Amino acid sequence: MTTKVLSYTLNSLVSKLIESGFVWTLPVILSKSTDPLWPDPGASIEKRIEAEIYGHQVRMTTSMIIHKMVFCSLLHPKLFIVSPNVRIEKRERQKTGWHAYEFTQLDFEIQNGDFETVKKMVEKLLQDLIHDVRRDLYDDTKNNGLLKHIELPKKGFPIFDAQELQRSHGQYWEDEIIRSIKTPVWVRNIPREFYDFEDTETGKWDNYDLFVPKYGEILSGAKREWEYEKIIRKMKRDGVNVDLYKELLYLAKEGKLAPSAGAGIGIERLVTWLCDAKNIERVQPFPKIPGVVLDL
Ligand code: ASP
Ligand code: MG
Repeated sequence: MTTKVLSYTLNSLVSKLIESGFVWTLPVILSKSTDPLWPDPGASIEKRIEAEIYGHQVRMTTSMIIHKMVFCSLLHPKLFIVSPNVRIEKRERQKTGWHAYEFTQLDFEIQNGDFETVKKMVEKLLQDLIHDVRRDLYDDTKNNGLLKHIELPKKGFPIFDAQELQRSHGQYWEDEIIRSIKTPVWVRNIPREFYDFEDTETGKWDNYDLFVPKYGEILSGAKREWEYEKIIRKMKRDGVNVDLYKELLYLAKEGKLAPSAGAGIGIERLVTWLCDAKNIERVQPFPKIPGVVLDL
C-alpha cells in the first residue's frame, strides 16, 4: 500500500505544480555549493560526502536550496525539483523512525514569493492530495483505515512561533507540539542557515516548517536573503566557508539574485504520515536508516 500511495502522491504534487505554472527541472547530485545545513538546531550530520573531480572538491547534495535560488532568479520564476538529498545523520537517530540518511525532497521556489503564497499553495496541495487519495484509493484503503487518522482544519492551518514555543515548553518544544496538535500546523521564526530571511530590526526569521500530528516536520522553507552585504555578513557570522558559494555571492553582488520564497517537502515523511506507517523505513523501497547500510 505505501508503494501505491507514494506513486500517487508524486503524481498528484507534480501535476498540480505544473498546472499552476511551475517548471520541473533536474536534480543536481554533485556540486561545490550545496546546503551547509549549518547552523541549524535540527541538523545532526556525522559527515559530509565529498569527492575530488577534475581537481575540484565537490559535495553530494544535502538540499538544492542554492540551485533553486539561482534558477528562479535567472531561468524561470517558479520551479521545482524532485531531488535526492544525502544527509549522513548521526547513528543515534536510528531510533527516531523519522530520519533517513538519503531521502527525496520535492523542493520548490517562487520568485517574489512570501509565506502567504507558500502557505496557501501547500495547504491546497495537501487538501487535494488527501481528498483524491480518499476518493481514488478507497477500495484499497477502507480495510486498513488509511487516512482515517488525518484531520485538516476547515480554514487555514494554525501558526505557531518557535521562540514562543521554546519559552513555554523549553528546548523539547517539538516533542510537545507533535503530541498535542490534532491537525498540521505551521511553525515560524526558527534561527538557522544564512539563506533564510532574518529581519535585523525585529530579530525574527521569516521561515516556516510544517508539522503533522504524531510524526513531526514534513516541510521546511523560508523567504530568502538576496542582498550581498547581508548574505556575506551572515556567512561570516556563522563560520560558513564563503569559497563554496562563489557563484551565489557573485550574482548577489551584481544585483542579479531575486527575492524569493520556497520550501521542500520530505516525500517519504509525507507518505509515512498519509499511511500512518510505523516509521519512515516502511515507506522507502530501499531504506536508508541512520547507522544501517543494507546490501541493496
Ligand atoms: N528545502 C529547504 C528550503 O527550501 C531547505 C532544506 O532542505 O532544509 O528551505
Ligand atoms: Mg533546512
